[in-house]
Amino acid sequence: MNLPIMEQTFISAKASFAEAKAVILGCPYDGSATFRPGARFGPSAIRKTSWGIETYSPYQESDLTQIKIHDMGDLELPLGEKKTSLSLIQEGARRILSAKKFPIFLGGDHLITLPIIEEIHRVYPDVHVLHIDAHTDLREEYLGETLNHSTVMKKVLDLLSKGRLSQVGIRSGAQEEFALAEKIGSILFSDPKSLRRMVNRLKNRPVYISLDLDVMDPGLLPGVGTPEPGGFTFQEILSLFKGLQPLRVIGFDLVELTPDYDPSQISSVTASVILREMILAFCSR
Ligand code: MN
Ligand code: MN
Repeated sequence: MNLPIMEQTFISAKASFAEAKAVILGCPYDGSATFRPGARFGPSAIRKTSWGIETYSPYQESDLTQIKIHDMGDLELPLGEKKTSLSLIQEGARRILSAKKFPIFLGGDHLITLPIIEEIHRVYPDVHVLHIDAHTDLREEYLGETLNHSTVMKKVLDLLSKGRLSQVGIRSGAQEEFALAEKIGSILFSDPKSLRRMVNRLKNRPVYISLDLDVMDPGLLPGVGTPEPGGFTFQEILSLFKGLQPLRVIGFDLVELTPDYDPSQISSVTASVILREMILAFCSR
């Protein structure tokens, strides 16, 4: 009998890099947090609490053990050095994409998504980014800094050509950000009809999903850097994933879990279950 050893990976991510279909990489950078830092501890908290959840999803009637997943662990980053950190994250994304694996990135603050999308865009020039977040993240700059977790989607918008960014769940931002969000057709909070329209429009296109966990209601998931009231319930995020299932998702990230603000660890557990549901919904085909 093989002894059951608990590993330092996300639950059931036991495959080698070579045999894996999906690869998880932790990007524990939180140098651009504007309010509460600590998202650097997000990936390890997800791994740790994942051993307390089931691999089986009763919602999707499927099991993580049916998918070969490799967990690379966390990148070691010089946290005070933004440029070096971002280029190491980009290099990590390049490794996974060049091996033709389905990439899954765990943040870190939301700025980690920028170097990832730069790399994704090289492989999928027609990629469409679906941004799920409480915040628009469309600032031009923050206190003079253009590379920030609050400017990340403006940078993505500048990189991709027009109409290649969609947003869901948005309920916070500056007035000028909302003006821009409206122009790109962002879906404020949840509106099933606009969601269906968006999914129909994006069918057959490569879609990358970037999910900021503060889209969830902070009463349910308080362990984030920038909590914003009025967010999704767990059931609402599940039905969002269900609605997105017709999309051809080519990778995703889960960012902004800041575990130490929630000593109950419910935020980390919920993030683990959300990660399980996303893997089953988006990379099992
Ligand atoms: Mn964000
Ligand atoms: Mn946010």
